[in-house]
Amino acid sequence: MAHYDLIVLGTGGIGSAALFHAASRGLKCLGLDRFPPAHDRGSSHGESRLIRLSYFEHPDYVPLLRRSYELWDALDPALLTRSGIFYAGPTDSEIIRGVLASAREHGLGVDIVDPADFPHYAVPEGHTALFEADAGWLPVETCILTHLARAADAGAEHRWGESVTAWQEVGDSVQVSTDAGDYSADALVICGGAWSGELMAGLGLPLTVTRKHLHWFQCEDDRYQSGFFIELPHGQFYGFPAGDGRLKLAEHSSGEPICDPLNASRDQDPEDDARIEDFVARHLPGVSSTRLEHGSCFYTMTPDSDFIVDRYPGSERVTFAAGLSGHGFKLAPALGELLVDLATGSDTPFDTRFISLERFAA
Ligand SMILES: Cc1cc2nc3c(=O)[nH]c(=O)nc-3n(C[C@H](O)[C@H](O)[C@H](O)COP(=O)(O)OP(=O)(O)OC[C@H]3O[C@@H](n4cnc5c(N)ncnc54)[C@H](O)[C@@H]3O)c2cc1C
Repeated sequence: MAHYDLIVLGTGGIGSAALFHAASRGLKCLGLDRFPPAHDRGSSHGESRLIRLSYFEHPDYVPLLRRSYELWDALDPALLTRSGIFYAGPTDSEIIRGVLASAREHGLGVDIVDPADFPHYAVPEGHTALFEADAGWLPVETCILTHLARAADAGAEHRWGESVTAWQEVGDSVQVSTDAGDYSADALVICGGAWSGELMAGLGLPLTVTRKHLHWFQCEDDRYQSGFFIELPHGQFYGFPAGDGRLKLAEHSSGEPICDPLNASRDQDPEDDARIEDFVARHLPGVSSTRLEHGSCFYTMTPDSDFIVDRYPGSERVTFAAGLSGHGFKLAPALGELLVDLATGSDTPFDTRFISLERFAA
């Protein structure tokens, strides 16, 4: 049986970064995935992902975000487009309160702006608007391919098209079985995305997988140059320029819970279509009502919408990232680095209690 220093199970958004960081430290690594690189069956596809620093979800992400900005730029400075992001919502909304709290706590550059200066967003009367110039977007598939290519350059091996059927600790190693063979390693990093629950069934992780929709619309001109995140009484919507005069749009709130991500429908959903069309008609005056394209993707949610990145309880050899809750991609390099630190017993400079498994222990 081939033996490695470290195996990464799942080489999607987070696993590709973990594999790169492990291989860069000189570890003999293997990446395993059921699907080929940058596939469209999990949570890391659809052209692009927003990256933001003044994090409304939780200010404790900011040090990890700063590290991610550094690591994306070090990986390839062409990956991160700093287009800025426009936020709008009621003053006491999750987004406005959260962005301002993060900015205050970490001294970040966020401007309170007049919505009238951004007429391409029709923001309801009385809403607060903010602009964060350091935000932008990442080309999701290219980022994964770059991490995997750099991991291979550093000596990592990959097996794609192999489904992991079981893993277990045996003595002082971890054995991983796929439908094609068995491997062993000193350490295992599990980055299973929507399949995390079944890959760690013994833990009973509090995860809900929901199917989400992505939509591409045609713009009338080039007025949409930055990203946006808008909170309305009935939902949170976001989007960003997608090249060739297109705008990519999605609803961050809502989502249809599913049980079997391998066999979930990939069709459009009339209810989601109607909500997005209504958002376009009311709030994006420069976007045509013609939808160009649709895609679907999975959020894997925890009860508090924060990630779980931790050691497997009772194990010194197994670490995992799960429940990335629809906002994890931007943090992939810092999480990949953190997972390798945890897996190799190295110190991490980050306070990760807010993304520990322990917080759900009660
Ligand atoms: C519509 C949508 C929009 C989003 N927008 C943003 C955004 O703007 N900004 C942002 O930061 N984040 C965003 N996210 C979230 C982000 O994309 C995800 O959190 C992140 O990409 C998840 O990465 P992952 O590695 O956990 O999962 P994945 O990339 O899905 O990787 C999991 C991998 O594990 C493999 N795997 C699972 N089980 C097995 C098995 N048994 N055997 C072999 N392989 C296995 C899968 O094949 C897969 O490749 C969005 C997500 C979606 C769905």
